[in-house]
Amino acid sequence: MITIKSSEEIELMRKANQIDRDCLLMLQDHIKPGISTKKLDELAYDYIVKCNAKPSFLGYSGFPASICTSVNEQVVHGIPSKKVILEEGDIISIDCGTIYKGWNGDAARTFAVGKISAEKQQLIDVTQQSFFEGVKILKAGVRLGDLGHAIQSYAESFGYGVVRDLVGHGIGKDMHEDPAVPNYGKPGFGYRLRNNMTIAIEPMINMGTYKVFQLEDGWTIVTQDDKPSAHYENTVLITEEGYEILSL
Ligand code: MG
Ligand code: MG
Repeated sequence: MITIKSSEEIELMRKANQIDRDCLLMLQDHIKPGISTKKLDELAYDYIVKCNAKPSFLGYSGFPASICTSVNEQVVHGIPSKKVILEEGDIISIDCGTIYKGWNGDAARTFAVGKISAEKQQLIDVTQQSFFEGVKILKAGVRLGDLGHAIQSYAESFGYGVVRDLVGHGIGKDMHEDPAVPNYGKPGFGYRLRNNMTIAIEPMINMGTYKVFQLEDGWTIVTQDDKPSAHYENTVLITEEGYEILSL
């Protein structure tokens, strides 16, 4: 179901997303060689709870942690573990979801662990920029095909693969609401955005093929060619004049 939010509801979503953003900023300071992804998860849980919010991922369809930690060729939905210790040169995508007074925040960033290669840095930068190439065209009346096309054409101009099997989504009282928000598309096609809709836009960009598969743990999505992947996500409010990024 597609939902339109009232100004009171938007205010609560703004708060949920600020907690989410600040949690990711806090985690950034801890991302160094030698830390486990389990430790990052514990830090996130403690931070979110301290802010009087709830980690929305914990228990979602049975997910066992408060954040997703996806290292290198892992695209999304990586499960934090004591056994996964970050190493110099890795990249890690962290996806974080928060619930504040019943309203959801959703955001993701990809971070460098120590010194990384120029190729991996470019992948992170282009993934983030592809998000901004998409949002800059947004306002009420714009179609999702135009948004997806803007993200896709930017990322593909670097020879990267745009993940098709996972997409962004509407967000509100539920973390995943309609409509689906693909990072690819045809200009002039797709659902027409409306004033006071909130959507999570989340390009997942691979250095190589766009093709991905799920590991046997039932969660972790990895690239088919084992090349690295990056993820960048924000929750965005659509307005008559443009947009507001709630998780920045
Ligand atoms: Mg997310
Ligand atoms: Mg999301």
